[in-house]
Amino acid sequence: SCSKILLLCTLSGGGLLSYSESQSESITGSPASNTNSDVPAKKKVIVLGTGWGGTSFLKDLDASLYDVQVVSPCNYFAFTPLLPSVTCGTVEARSIVEPVRNMVKKRKGDIKFWEAECLKIDHANKTVLCRSNIGNNLVGSGEFSLEYDYLVVAIGAQVNTFNTPGVKEHCHFLKEVEDAQKIRRAVIDCFEKAVLPSLSDEERRTNLHFVVVGGGPTGVEFAAELHDHFQEDLVNLYPSVKDFVNITVIQSGDHILNTFDERISLFAEEKFGRDGIKVQTGRRVISVDDKNITMKAKSTGEIYSVPHGLVIWSTGIATRPVVRDFMEQIGQGKRHVLATNEWLRVKGCESVYAIGDCSSIDQQKIMDDISAIFEAADKDKSGTLTVAELKDVLDDIIVRYPQFELYLKSKHILDLSTLWKDSEGNYREEIDIEGFKMALSHMDSQMKSLPATAQVASQQGEYLARCFNRMHQCEEHPEGPRRFKGSGRHTFLPFRYKHFGQFAPLGGEQAAAELPGDWVAMGHSTQWLWYSVYASKQVSWRTRMLVISDWTRRFIFGRDSSRI
Ligand code: FAD
Repeated sequence: SCSKILLLCTLSGGGLLSYSESQSESITGSPASNTNSDVPAKKKVIVLGTGWGGTSFLKDLDASLYDVQVVSPCNYFAFTPLLPSVTCGTVEARSIVEPVRNMVKKRKGDIKFWEAECLKIDHANKTVLCRSNIGNNLVGSGEFSLEYDYLVVAIGAQVNTFNTPGVKEHCHFLKEVEDAQKIRRAVIDCFEKAVLPSLSDEERRTNLHFVVVGGGPTGVEFAAELHDHFQEDLVNLYPSVKDFVNITVIQSGDHILNTFDERISLFAEEKFGRDGIKVQTGRRVISVDDKNITMKAKSTGEIYSVPHGLVIWSTGIATRPVVRDFMEQIGQGKRHVLATNEWLRVKGCESVYAIGDCSSIDQQKIMDDISAIFEAADKDKSGTLTVAELKDVLDDIIVRYPQFELYLKSKHILDLSTLWKDSEGNYREEIDIEGFKMALSHMDSQMKSLPATAQVASQQGEYLARCFNRMHQCEEHPEGPRRFKGSGRHTFLPFRYKHFGQFAPLGGEQAAAELPGDWVAMGHSTQWLWYSVYASKQVSWRTRMLVISDWTRRFIFGRDSSRI
């Protein structure tokens, strides 16, 4: 999702990995990296993916400690939060990407990069099978296999079509840089086609009906960008068809931006209403073809079709096939994403770690932790807590699992006045723990996971890198930074996510933001905050300068509407 999240990434706590001493004795090294037989071979670390998780891991890893190889079909890192801006030419595609080789050459140690796709993770043999996707002039099939001691899976996720007929064939997605470039060309195509002399007014109207499926942050931001592009640039270039343009956002829930504070959802809906962007909530798309999009109204069950010129599908993410195959090998076949423990190690795999959109901390473990927090608070073992005690417990849960905050807020549970009263409005002294735990365990499983955002992925990457750096120290100093009594193992603090808030740009130089400490900001000044945060969060000075100059160019000259 394109939640415009402040991309601040701090390390949460120390590091992870409990590692046993016996493990350190069975190091298999890379012959190429060690010529002196007295020097222990470096362990081989393979990183799959160069997105938010992979690059933040590489950025902080002390690569001189390991034999590091990186595999990714993209030889660049893309700053995804600005992808919606690329769809309309507000920023150029090259301004938001940084070559991986630029990033790794600045790192201490030797990091090898292979531009290839991982086809299979062979858990039993600790190898990954890869295939280069460059051209046709490869020797053989372009396939090769790499051995690992540690594998870091950071390959993100793919678009989720929910197997809706026609979506793959007739919709545009907004996940990769290429997708944004394709959308940019397709939008201009729609306008060029609509002004052709042979078309009827009805056909012009159809061609200029832009439908966005999904009212999450990505869909909303794209609709807002498109509206701005039309109002600020295209209306002057295609004046004859300006009255035929329509933008519709289709959302299955009751509100758009429903992962945000409800004041932001309402503000966005009102703003879109004023701008003439139609928002249709409570609709589920059941099929798409080259001319029509067919949907069902959830409340009435009515099925109807509307003609479209362009459909953008932005409804969430699904597991990549290579991860699905790996999950089946390790008995996680029924899950949506790879389950890890709190140290980001894949459950049941000693040497595989997973970060970012392809992983999630095991939910049973989360619920067990929450039970433990309740039990610790229930000192007299009465099975009840006072309202004040419960408030402390909830605060504790939110610190450890910030994803619960949204749920608790949406049920008004964090509001003390709600806690004081029972369902009949009577004041109560104590609250039953079991009932409360039950309510939390019934929470939607998606909500129990951390959000699939750059903010989470990059914090996990940083955290894991620090752990890898310290894991090596543990080998040299077996007494380790902390020792679990009697277990003979060393341990680090588990991963803790810190939520820094999220942005939703709404067009017309206005944005909304949810900031830490329950702050909600909306309007023009928030848009300026958005500009400064996103400029500061660029991964290099080069991209920072490019992005700022693109914004300036757009202010002065408008967007470029050439179809190249
Ligand atoms: P990715 O960043 O997707 O990286 C995956 C990497 O794996 C890529 O390099 C890919 O090429 C590589 N890969 C894929 N398949 C293979 C394979 N078989 N073998 C090897 N490598 C492979 N989050 C925010 O916090 N704030 C925002 O404002 C925001 N806006 C967004 C806007 C858009 C349009 C989109 C699409 C997402 C947005 N997100 C935002 C979400 C954020 O981009 C993701 O959560 C984040 O990219 C996840 O990081 P990741 O490392 O798990 O995966």
